[in-house]
Amino acid sequence: MNPRFKEIVKLFQRLPGVGPRQAARFVLALLDKPEQDLTELGSAIANLKKEISFCPQCFNISDNGLCAVCHDHNRDKAKLLVVEKVTDLDSIEKTGLYKGLYHVLGGSINPLDGILPQNLRVKELQQRLGDLTDKEKRVELIIATNPNTNGETTALYLKDLFTPHALVTVTRLGRGLSSGSHLEYADETTLKNALEYRK
Ligand SMILES: [Zn+2]
Repeated sequence: MNPRFKEIVKLFQRLPGVGPRQAARFVLALLDKPEQDLTELGSAIANLKKEISFCPQCFNISDNGLCAVCHDHNRDKAKLLVVEKVTDLDSIEKTGLYKGLYHVLGGSINPLDGILPQNLRVKELQQRLGDLTDKEKRVELIIATNPNTNGETTALYLKDLFTPHALVTVTRLGRGLSSGSHLEYADETTLKNALEYRK
């Protein structure tokens, strides 16, 4: 195989879930595109970190500084919903039902892969709850990790960690989400119900 082709395939394999065959398909598909499309894609990738960053408060995607949710003064500061990834946050935003704040953990606890609480944004969550409960304000911490093994482990960990906090009420998304699944693939009605009937 052409060495340059091989090199580019290797670059695509750095993306999550992309194996050598899939990566080769990507490169072949790009070879079929007009030059201008490739330039556009290339410059979008080159500028990615300049144009998009993470919100310093909740770790949602933001174009500069605080994200749109944290910027919005109408959001309910007595509710903080914890998700694993930005894509989960998007799914919940799409329901239009939730008007509180978010915290993106950056994954879930997975001891087999060496992902422990200290590898997630747990410290930042503690700090955030400290700020939100300042001046004796009560906060509902809604745990919305994925309904699978790692998500459950993470939820139990967070529940144990924050339940003793006098000003924090820990709740979880209600039933209806099929176990073993991912939040980002749940349909809107299921998510709405899970939000409404949280426990
Ligand atoms: Zn934010």
